Amino acid sequence: MEVRTRFAPSPTGFMHLGGLRTALYNYLFAKKNGGKFILRIEDTDQERYVEGATEVIYDTLKGCGMDWDEGPDVGGPVGPYIQSERKDMYLPYAKQLIASGHAYYCFCSECELNERREAFKAQGGVWKYDKQCLHLSREEVEAKLAAGTPYVIRMNAPTEGDTSYDDVVFGHMTFHNADTMDDMVLIKQDGMPTYNFANVIDDHLMGITHVMRGMEYLSSTPKYNYLYNAFGWEIPTYVHLTTVMRDAQHKLSKRDGDAFYSDFVDKGYLTEALINYLVLVGWNPGNDREFFTIDELVDAFDIHRLNNAPGIFDVAKLNYFNETYIKQLAPEKFMEIAKPWFDQVLDGSKINYKRLSELVQTRIQVFNELPAMVGYLAALPEYSNDLYTNKKSKCTPEVAKTVLETYKPVLAAIDNWDETVIHDTVMPVIAESGMKNGTVLWPLRIAITGTANTPGGFFENAALLGKEETLRRIDDGLARL
Ligand code: GLU
Repeated sequence: MEVRTRFAPSPTGFMHLGGLRTALYNYLFAKKNGGKFILRIEDTDQERYVEGATEVIYDTLKGCGMDWDEGPDVGGPVGPYIQSERKDMYLPYAKQLIASGHAYYCFCSECELNERREAFKAQGGVWKYDKQCLHLSREEVEAKLAAGTPYVIRMNAPTEGDTSYDDVVFGHMTFHNADTMDDMVLIKQDGMPTYNFANVIDDHLMGITHVMRGMEYLSSTPKYNYLYNAFGWEIPTYVHLTTVMRDAQHKLSKRDGDAFYSDFVDKGYLTEALINYLVLVGWNPGNDREFFTIDELVDAFDIHRLNNAPGIFDVAKLNYFNETYIKQLAPEKFMEIAKPWFDQVLDGSKINYKRLSELVQTRIQVFNELPAMVGYLAALPEYSNDLYTNKKSKCTPEVAKTVLETYKPVLAAIDNWDETVIHDTVMPVIAESGMKNGTVLWPLRIAITGTANTPGGFFENAALLGKEETLRRIDDGLARL
């Protein structure tokens, strides 16, 4: 039997990290088993339609290295793969259920339903559709249909008994039908199927063998099984996935800017690092190994190692993954990714990005740290003379003043303003003076950067800033001291 999994996002315009992880598990499991990974767009909720949202889904999956075998754009044997384009396929199945007594037409208007719901709630009950239309005679139904009365089609759910099924992650599940079942709508007034109906029809028609989706569907699954049984179809294997949480109490949230894939890309996380970490939030390889490429994940993946406790998405841990991936980038690649971040503060300057990249590549966890880290190169920040005080380097503002006065002419005399030349010119002068290197280099670096911690020391920064700017900043330092 060929394994067939599907990722079935609704086009909301954003890819939630939980959704992305669901996609990853579906992809990894299909590939691991030499099966097919199918993309299906669930857009039957037309009110929620968002322009361009399907492209967000395509771009995210592609960007993460997950190519789908069948889907809206690439086609396949069981298309179309966009639910709204399948609209006409669902009604005949709903009618089949009506004929077999598993479903019925409901003509109750929204207004009538509201009245009954309110009356029911007023008595303290939990409202479920009361099966009123189930009791219409065949003639009454025919007459209403002939008159063009708007209708929905509802499932005729059992009101007693239990439904059990086995879930790969959660084990044997049993639900009381009276609690979990209701006469849910299968076909809406606009003729569109609900998710509750479409997922069953589509998963069956598309030959899906393993349904991997969020655990919020655990308790609706009895309703879906009722439909599979009504049709006499084979029930797929269920793999419900725990929620990705920020901490034990909180879900990832849009408001905190930690819910969407794009939030992380925008902050300067590397996709490879994000994917690697995300897969581990909810799954473990059975050993201590942490770092995997997506192909290595395919090899290592085993659905029996999915956790049934909520996965905590720990940003500190993600940062560690990102830092590790950043260190491994080829220098040219690092520079390419860093450039827009440098540009935010250094655009139009003559700063050598190649050299700057070398200096910062091992100093960041996330690219969005760069503008603040290198901003002093664009303009000397406001700083306090206290910065000149450094115990270890035996430096005080008074010492700094003498150092700047002494080394200004030494630097001014250098013609070939090159990092090595500056170094080889200054070091012998320090040696001759008998001072500690730090006592000279500390105040020089502070004067030209105005910053306690910088990528690179005095020589690197002097070379980056250029001769004129270096001397100008030293003058500025002297004026303050
Ligand atoms: N469209 C559903 C969602 O985005 C898919 C659930 C499923 O995978 O069946 O939540």
